[in-house]
Amino acid sequence: MRARRYSLSHCLMLSALPGRVLFFLLVLVGNLSAELKSRTLGGVPYYDLASVGRNLGMRATWTKVSQVIELRSQWTTLRFLVNSRYFELNRRKVYLGKPVILFQGRPFLSQKDYLLTVRPILCPQTLSPKRVAHRIVLDPGHGGKDPGAQNNGVRLREKDLALEVALRLKRQLLSDGYEVFLTRETDVYIPLDQRAEFANRMRADLFVSIHFNATRNTWVRGAETFYAGAAGRQLASSIHRELAGKCRMKNRGVRFARFAVLVQTKCPAVLVECGFISNASERARCVTSSFQTTAAQAIADGIRKYRWR
Ligand SMILES: [Zn+2]
Repeated sequence: MRARRYSLSHCLMLSALPGRVLFFLLVLVGNLSAELKSRTLGGVPYYDLASVGRNLGMRATWTKVSQVIELRSQWTTLRFLVNSRYFELNRRKVYLGKPVILFQGRPFLSQKDYLLTVRPILCPQTLSPKRVAHRIVLDPGHGGKDPGAQNNGVRLREKDLALEVALRLKRQLLSDGYEVFLTRETDVYIPLDQRAEFANRMRADLFVSIHFNATRNTWVRGAETFYAGAAGRQLASSIHRELAGKCRMKNRGVRFARFAVLVQTKCPAVLVECGFISNASERARCVTSSFQTTAAQAIADGIRKYRWR
């Protein structure tokens, strides 16, 4: 892949050039690890469309005069028009919940439209056409304006720890051959119902939400795993056994709780609490890279040992 990249603002500058060229093209060479740039506009979370292109490994072409941004891969062209409530997928109309908007000269797509409409259409084609692997949706808890549990004294936020473990777990599961999707890969806010909706839309086989705990009783420590249905219970037991054992944590058990993300997902779903950041000694471990890697390995082992139906 070509390494050279152009920034959107760089190209907007070029647009001021005189001449008979009425429009210009911007080409961004994408890679799958590129981060999504998010921004809350009018209370609604949005993604910069150029960063969506990079994230999906597509080339982005922005035509300022016609206000069209195209994302293109070998087989697929997505054509978004600023202020329009639909986009074209290979010349066919697909409706969006919210129009694409322009902010500071850059087109933005609502996060909900990305998660629930655009990504589910595109992601399966980056995978093998015949679905052979189990598909797992990982859900790093909290994010963006919702920090989760935090300890201001040591500037520790649950949302950061949860993402660290989830990203490590993603790598583990990918190397095991599973298909893995995350509800968020960056520090963005995503409402609970959208997390479950994303898993359902992606037809996930398993859903694993990653969290860390906190309580006023600072002596409380240990791992606990929640489920809301019979299928989730079996998965919770399998994961919890590995997590408490491999991380050598106090075993607080597998517990029933009707959390929104567990109730609204159609597949077996669990919520893993990887330790209490309100407990000094557990907090000291949770922040280390080695603990986060071990926790991810343990959860991956639990998923591997789960009796798939
Ligand atoms: Zn949490």
